[in-house]
Amino acid sequence: MLFLTRIAYFLTLVLIGYASIVSDILNALEHAVDCGSCHTLLGVLQGVALLGDSIFSSALVSVCEAAGVEDDDVCQGLLTEQGPIIAHDLRSISSTGQTASKLCNAVLGLCQDPAVNAFTVPFPKAAPINPKVFTSTGKPPFQVAHFSDAHIDRMYTTGADSNCTKPICCRNFADQTGPVQIPAGPSGSLNCDTPTTLVQSMLRAVAAENTQFSIFTGDVVEAAVWLVDQTENTSDMQQFNTEMQTLLNSPVFPAIGNHEAAPVNAFPRNTTNQGQVQWVFDTQSQGWNPFISTAAASQVQHMSGSYSVNPVNTNLRIISLNTIYWYKDNFYLFDSDKFQPDPNGIIAFAVQELQAAEDAGQRAWIIAHMPPSGGDALHDQSNYFDQVVQRYKNTIAGLFFGHTHKDEFAIGYSNYNNQTADTADAIAWIGPSLTPRQANPTFRLYDVDPDTYEIMDSRTFMSDMSDPSFQSSPIWKQEYSARDTYGPAIGGWPATQSLNPTFWHKVTEAFVSNDELFQTFNSLKTRGVGVSECTGDCKTTTICNLRALRAENNCIAATPGINFRRAEEKVDASQRGHIDHCEGIGLRTIFENIALKTVAGHNLTVDGLLTNSFKRTMDPESLIKRAHDAFSKRSYIVINAY
Ligand SMILES: [Zn+2]
Repeated sequence: MLFLTRIAYFLTLVLIGYASIVSDILNALEHAVDCGSCHTLLGVLQGVALLGDSIFSSALVSVCEAAGVEDDDVCQGLLTEQGPIIAHDLRSISSTGQTASKLCNAVLGLCQDPAVNAFTVPFPKAAPINPKVFTSTGKPPFQVAHFSDAHIDRMYTTGADSNCTKPICCRNFADQTGPVQIPAGPSGSLNCDTPTTLVQSMLRAVAAENTQFSIFTGDVVEAAVWLVDQTENTSDMQQFNTEMQTLLNSPVFPAIGNHEAAPVNAFPRNTTNQGQVQWVFDTQSQGWNPFISTAAASQVQHMSGSYSVNPVNTNLRIISLNTIYWYKDNFYLFDSDKFQPDPNGIIAFAVQELQAAEDAGQRAWIIAHMPPSGGDALHDQSNYFDQVVQRYKNTIAGLFFGHTHKDEFAIGYSNYNNQTADTADAIAWIGPSLTPRQANPTFRLYDVDPDTYEIMDSRTFMSDMSDPSFQSSPIWKQEYSARDTYGPAIGGWPATQSLNPTFWHKVTEAFVSNDELFQTFNSLKTRGVGVSECTGDCKTTTICNLRALRAENNCIAATPGINFRRAEEKVDASQRGHIDHCEGIGLRTIFENIALKTVAGHNLTVDGLLTNSFKRTMDPESLIKRAHDAFSKRSYIVINAY
């Protein structure tokens, strides 16, 4: 009896303690309006993290559920997976240092990106004074397919609701009991990831083209990020590898995407004694071996997913990099105050392979999932990678990325302070997604000059979901040719010239003066789906971003509470660094939504920024009460933690 009384007493104490933890977090969230107060918030969270991963995650789940920013199962799944990583970070760093600022930037958008930490990338040799010149002899181009962001949902269910409250729909979720509003068709739907039928249809369409090889810039796994685990992801990767091997009739050279890991984005560094992601590299090493050779497959295993390969009958070296070590949503990157310029040696690997290409007189392509140009790329690593691109610009014929799901590009310059057609010297091709989530499904075909390995034309193929035949049998048609669409607008472009960095800089100049052309680009980005008007600041920012292969030069500012707190400051959602199609709903979105919710009682409304559920208003007191209730529901987790 005494024992039971003690237990009851202990339970009460824990509950009171927990209630105060939740109140403290909500209070700190409410007052986190800028970078300084974000550091204070981290101090509070640090205290909770010291109580253990379970308490930390449970408290965040309670806050998330109470704020109603996501369905309870999404809050629970995502924060239970990501919570321990953040807790580990907080226990490992000072809440006032630069890493903490980066965490505030990445998770809450409350600090701007810190200035780049000066670091000079070491090169084995200086750039040659008389570099090899690659000249086209006018041979007919060969074709290469580029597909990206497959996000295949093996649990996609035809007939399930394609209109739901989850980050992705078209599945039979346990808590969805009402009548189906819009049944999912067999080939795909706008709120859902890719069904098996659609990915197989795309691979057959690629096989029907006479391609020498394909590049796949990552993200195999669907965005049910609150449910994924190692078993599912391994199976997803293996299935897609088998499909590519069976349905394509030429090799494919893939890259690792952030969705391959479980928890999503979680690629711990070599210096981290927590978490495991080697299984992703092992799985892909094995699955890619038939395309990339045994030597490259061994690199995948030992170089954190990166490798290089020389496709047969070419003088081209394709260097596939795992850029998730430069990705802000990989929260493992914030688990040390020690300056690590090159996590897992990805930049050193790029240098080694580019030097080998230069020495061998080869041209090189860089392929990777996340482009170093976006609002979600860490400025440090983007800067260091840009140094590599500038050093080896005579060798690099193109850079190819995915991740944004948009049809776009990014230009690098020898002098970012003087961005002209003459200083433009690198072009990143950002391939649109296969997943029909918020855009028509696509792949690209490049016409490649066999002497220079430069891109003579880029043609995007799309299956139009509004076409009545889409659900029975998707048809893949050319949407546009970059040369035909943009060439005339820059006064014509010689047929013998590749679509080189100069071409693309001139296209951005044409965007400034020719608004119709810019609006065409704006619509092509999502293949005509959900196109929002982009004029004024939106247009200026978009053009600025296209000229920023080096992320510190983009015009994406973190949104330090401004969007949340000042209704009069309407900000275009597309300009915010934190709207992330690849991520879907991530921890960042949840935190931002909670931060907004905590000030909802201040009668603020922010239109067009986030989801409908986000716009519900709630006064801070009832929010705190709901959080307490949600917390006490799962108090057993807390007990276990002790
Ligand atoms: Zn993606």
